[in-house]
Amino acid sequence: MTYIKQYRCTLCGQAYHKDLDLMTCPTCGESGILDIEFDYDEIKKVVNKEYFQNNRQQNIWRYLPFLTVEKTYTNETLSVGWTPLYLAKNLGKKYKTNQLYIKDDGLNPTQSLKDRASIIACVKAKELGLETISCSSTGNAASSLAGNAAKMGLKTVIFVPERAPLGKLLQLKMYGATLIKVKGDYKATFNLSKAAIDHYGWYNRNAAINPHLVEGKKTVALEIAEQLEFKPTDWVIVSVGDGCTVGGVYKGFYDLYKVGMIARIPKILGIQSEGCSPFVDAFCDHHALEEAEENTIADSIAVGIPRNPVKGMNAIRKSKGTYLKVSDNSILDAMKELASSEGIFAEPAAAASVSGYIKARKENIIKDKESVTIIITGNGLKDQASAMKTIKDWVELKPDLKQLIEYMKENEGDKHHE
Ligand SMILES: *Cc1c(COP(=O)(O)O)cnc(C)c1O
Ligand SMILES: [Zn+2]
Repeated sequence: MTYIKQYRCTLCGQAYHKDLDLMTCPTCGESGILDIEFDYDEIKKVVNKEYFQNNRQQNIWRYLPFLTVEKTYTNETLSVGWTPLYLAKNLGKKYKTNQLYIKDDGLNPTQSLKDRASIIACVKAKELGLETISCSSTGNAASSLAGNAAKMGLKTVIFVPERAPLGKLLQLKMYGATLIKVKGDYKATFNLSKAAIDHYGWYNRNAAINPHLVEGKKTVALEIAEQLEFKPTDWVIVSVGDGCTVGGVYKGFYDLYKVGMIARIPKILGIQSEGCSPFVDAFCDHHALEEAEENTIADSIAVGIPRNPVKGMNAIRKSKGTYLKVSDNSILDAMKELASSEGIFAEPAAAASVSGYIKARKENIIKDKESVTIIITGNGLKDQASAMKTIKDWVELKPDLKQLIEYMKENEGDKHHE
């Protein structure tokens, strides 16, 4: 059993019975993205602090009462979630705080937060008796789906745009996906996948369309809250593409607030890249979302037409947070800074949230005394070409100590002497 109360359309507000097998609102069509409402009174009867203390499941299934899948297939999955939350002392010192935390979701099985959604898609497909799952993706949703599906013996057909980085394509092929690289941008890719899914009747893992996937993504917020003993930070920062992740972050905190386990919902800071910032522009200029260019190295958030506009916008509005955009150069700087100061190697889209943090501190959007959690959504090894842009080169020496001593004297000074 699950604790779903009903579905509700984010556009027209119509509620639908929980037993209907819906993807989107029958009235509004594809843009009528559904939200899933829960029966919090019932959840409250099972979930409390003791429930978590006695729960030894160290992956997203520890949050099963907040999810929309049955227990049946949950012991057949990869182990997704329960990623570390670090106190970022070194980075924090630089920005004058001892309350900066980093949630490293690059440590998921396929190295991105997307695993939290893919695992739900795979379990749902199993429940429905379907054999093939499909999605379009800027890269991570694809490789994540392929990996999670491989573990569960499901087939995948995956559509990615031309620019998807090699690391992610490699993952796809290794996991055995049918990979369709589409000559075009993400918009074109999404549209082809949609047509194919309609045509073949595959299970749809497009995160915006499928309302169950945001519920998977919300586990990142449930974990952050639990890891901070249900006193989450004043701010939570996350990068935004389609809007599903940020929507999930809000939903996770909302759930905990509704069952009385946290006293308030953190302010959410959504980060986009200057080269592709439809949410930021709409939020700051108070207009509806408009199609944007997809012109940034942060490929995972290069989404010109966000597919989850209402959830993406509501997360920021309802949490009383804000949207910010950052430049590609600042993203590369942040990547280096995060890796060298905290030992966390993030891909550009993930480092964008660190860059956003730095900007928000400079502009005093985040105040000195406010505590912060930055979510790192994906691992840096997925996109080595971008990482190469942040480093000069490396030295190559003969195996000769004298040469080494010369080199160290000239280049590294005293910094390695204890
Ligand atoms: C997908 C993704 C995001 C953004 O998630 P959306 O749901 O598209 O907003 C951010 N960072 C990384 C690494 C991603 O893969
Ligand atoms: Zn509707």
